[in-house]
Amino acid sequence: MKRRRTTPSNPKPRRGGGAGGGGRGGFGDDFRAFQDALREFMVSEGVAATIRDSGKPHGLLVTTGGWRTGDRANQNEGIASLFMAHEDYALLYRSVQAKQTTVVELEVTNKFIPGPITVYNTVGELRGSEKPDEFVVLGAHLDSWDLATGTTDNGTGSCVVLEAARTLALLAKQGVKPKRTIRFCLFTGEEQGLYGSKRYVEKHADEMARNVRRDGPRHRHRQGARLRHPRPGRTR
Ligand SMILES: [Zn+2]
Repeated sequence: MKRRRTTPSNPKPRRGGGAGGGGRGGFGDDFRAFQDALREFMVSEGVAATIRDSGKPHGLLVTTGGWRTGDRANQNEGIASLFMAHEDYALLYRSVQAKQTTVVELEVTNKFIPGPITVYNTVGELRGSEKPDEFVVLGAHLDSWDLATGTTDNGTGSCVVLEAARTLALLAKQGVKPKRTIRFCLFTGEEQGLYGSKRYVEKHADEMARNVRRDGPRHRHRQGARLRHPRPGRTR
């Protein structure tokens, strides 16, 4: 009978990415309490930075990040959190497993910009020909993560909204006009806490009952439903 190795010599990228940090939904009190206790422990141990494996299936990179509450720029987190390319991380992992003395030198040039910072939603509109006061909202978030260009999150979603706008506007010019008004929204600040979409709903509160919702896999059409927003990290 073969014994299974429980400690791989070359750790595989974790499935589904890392657990995010703090201030947003989806993480319970226990998780936050653990994170706080862990952080305090690491501070007391004099940890300079944490390094995590950025490897993910299909060549993707892990995105996490997050902060606990409030204004990010004024947070005193104390410990820098860094990601490392999978192969480099695996090399470090093997060195530590082999009990080799391993020294890592870090140079981090990122900085926080004190807030508040004004950001904007980008909204286009195609007026309805029969029911201009009823709305169909297509939305995606335009902001992205800190580690890369944001091609998948959320360039893909933003492109779909833009392409839908381009195509429908072209059709409208040729006389094929929508019955209801269609809004094309690129929301800002999604990754920081759904700021753009929440603000949109607040500013357009009087219209919410006149939004047509296309909801879920069964594509039920409903009138008068609230604007749904994607869960963090998802695009719909
Ligand atoms: Zn996202």
